[in-house]
Amino acid sequence: MTHDDREDRREAVATLLDSTWTLFDDAQKYLDPSYEGSAPPDFSQRVMELVPNAQQEAASLLERSTLAQIAGMVRTCDRCPLHATRRNAVPGEGKPNARLMVIGEGPGADEDASGRPFVGRAGKYLDAWLQAINLDRVNDVFIGNVVKCRPPENRDPYPEEAASCIPFLTRQIALVKPDAILCVGKVAAHHLLQRDDALRAMRSTVHRFAGIPVVVTYHPAAVLRNLQLRAPVWEDLKRVAQLIGVPVNRSGR
Ligand code: SF4
Repeated sequence: MTHDDREDRREAVATLLDSTWTLFDDAQKYLDPSYEGSAPPDFSQRVMELVPNAQQEAASLLERSTLAQIAGMVRTCDRCPLHATRRNAVPGEGKPNARLMVIGEGPGADEDASGRPFVGRAGKYLDAWLQAINLDRVNDVFIGNVVKCRPPENRDPYPEEAASCIPFLTRQIALVKPDAILCVGKVAAHHLLQRDDALRAMRSTVHRFAGIPVVVTYHPAAVLRNLQLRAPVWEDLKRVAQLIGVPVNRSGR
């Protein structure tokens, strides 16, 4: 529905409510000659409920969406400026009732080219992390991002871009209902958990998102650049394994 259509419909609904109220008020005057009538009520709130604006309608639609429908909405989304520079939106993928969700900040060049999350070198490294705690990317995990379209030059997503996009992720989490979330990288953790602490500080605690335990660790690409981060990542993976009740593979580190 266009903006003009919506305004026309609101006006029609407001007129109908006013007319109905006037009819009843007139009937009351007819039935009770001592009744002097009263000022018409303000129906504006009711009109907004009956004809919601585009944002309210989108939020309501998302609340009723399946994972497949979310993916379709993401692929055609133009809620934020990132839609203009993407090649492919990356809705996320994996097991619908996964035990673990892995959440990153947003697609990079490989993901933008393929439309799939965590492919390329960092993605393969993430697969190895999962194998180290006896999880299979396809059968045990759902992988997504805070923003579903690649920020140009791999810059961090702006707060307003993350705010526009995160309702998709929130709905995905609500549908998947994982036993735990592994949040990779500081930017993803900041947007998901609404914090701005250093990553090292966020690693020290198991956080909660919608009641689900969240472990924060380094992004696989960061670990590939600095292999000294492997030891803390292994500690974090063991914490995840404990949360979801899977054995760790001793050779994982
Ligand atoms: Fe839509 Fe998210 Fe892509 Fe922005 S990043 S256009 S909100 S799907």
